[in-house]
Amino acid sequence: MTTQYRNLINGKMIQADDWLDVVNPANEEVIGQVPACGAEELDSAVIAAREAFKSWKTTSFEERQAACMAISAAIKENADELYRLLTSEQGKPHQQAKGEIYGAAGMAAAQATLKLEEEVLQDDDTRLHRSRRVPVGVVGGIVPWNFPVMMAIQKIVPALMSGCTIILKPSPFTPLATLRIAELIADKVPAGTVNIITGEDSLGPLITQHPGIDKITFTGSTATGKKIMEGASADLKRITLELGGNDASIVLPDADPKKVAEQLFWASFSNAGQICVAAKRIYIHEDIYDELAEAIAEYAKTVKVGDGSEQGTGVGPIQNKKQYERVLELIEDAKDNGYKFLTGGDKDPSGTGYYVPITILDNPPEDARIVAEEQFGPVMPLMKFSSEDEVIARANASDYGLAGSVWTADTEKGVAIAEQLETGTVWINEYMHLSPFAPFGGHKQSGFGAEYGLDGLREFTYPQVITVKKDAEVA
Ligand code: NAD
Repeated sequence: MTTQYRNLINGKMIQADDWLDVVNPANEEVIGQVPACGAEELDSAVIAAREAFKSWKTTSFEERQAACMAISAAIKENADELYRLLTSEQGKPHQQAKGEIYGAAGMAAAQATLKLEEEVLQDDDTRLHRSRRVPVGVVGGIVPWNFPVMMAIQKIVPALMSGCTIILKPSPFTPLATLRIAELIADKVPAGTVNIITGEDSLGPLITQHPGIDKITFTGSTATGKKIMEGASADLKRITLELGGNDASIVLPDADPKKVAEQLFWASFSNAGQICVAAKRIYIHEDIYDELAEAIAEYAKTVKVGDGSEQGTGVGPIQNKKQYERVLELIEDAKDNGYKFLTGGDKDPSGTGYYVPITILDNPPEDARIVAEEQFGPVMPLMKFSSEDEVIARANASDYGLAGSVWTADTEKGVAIAEQLETGTVWINEYMHLSPFAPFGGHKQSGFGAEYGLDGLREFTYPQVITVKKDAEVA
């Protein structure tokens, strides 16, 4: 019998009348069922979250921290079970799933140290003027399928730390590990502070438009982000949007192809390329282009594509059928246009499981779909450039502005280029290092606001200024 997972509402694990199937992308088998919630279940969660907010907003920093540390500990203590479950629903290899689970536990513990201090803006004979942050209220958290556990935690923990309560909706494709965490923390956080409900995509707009919800924190595609902004406008909900990206990596001629090939490969192909900040366009200086392209293609041949639960798999399947078909379509488009492939693109992807061969394209034009669009899959275009000004202009010629990287022996030059890139994050000689203490957010159509650090925490609060006139004559 298929395992049925329940939702967390008001401290209790709740069943539903209707269920959604969850499929393992490695073999297309149904591995679990989750409640298909609608307006009624959402209303119950909102009532619980509103009620819990009344007391949670008055809690001390220490009480909030203790709850978040309990979440962190529950994840860590059950990491073995959770990472296997995550691989089975998401597809990522065990090693990467382990990284996500321990990463989420670490993220929770780190964010539980964040504290927004009151500021005294003026204190003299006439006036005490201070500014403090107050929680916005009930938060609706909506997350995607590529890092389901990490994204859930990075919404739940700052919500709690700021004094808010939350209703979280996982992606219908990857709700299992999150619901298992819900079960593990149900008696570790006060009832109603954390509610986790599942449903189809159609549950999303109900959350966005619910009058009992004060803020939306969303991670997902730019297209959905725009709908959320529209839905949230009815009652001017606060919003934080972490959206798509088309990140450029720029490799300068002084980088050693032998040293950077493997790193660039994983910058692009970790999680089968399904990472918002994956390297999605790699620009290589013409002096080292041939050598580096060959080194990356050679390394690619050593990486096994397969079921993430099998030992030695480096690249798992695409997480869901719709995304799988989109990635295959981009490969077909590249073939139809006669672009050159260094690897992949030639295999028949039919069979069970959403597998796409590691595909590397050799210098396709800038207007190729695979360059201009976010591929979100294991397909990487390598492009040649000849001058810094030219590559900066090409990197910036995008509606996205999430992240990017520069690879060079001359870090000063790397920083000078980074400062000209129109993105929220730029790495020099590394990739995907995200600090829980640094704001992470997209420029342009890659986002709105930021997560992480004090900047991220502030987004769950309103500023409140209280002014006391000391020399007033009122009585
Ligand atoms: P998606 O936008 O399709 O779905 C994300 C979530 O939104 C899901 O829970 C879905 O059920 C829900 N949803 C769908 N329609 C909705 C609507 N109309 N209103 C409210 N909610 C709705 O995204 P996805 O395909 O799950 O994720 C992939 C995308 O996420 C990529 O573009 C990727 O770059 C982006 N992403 C961004 C970040 C970041 O931090 N910037 C991180 C991870 C993924």
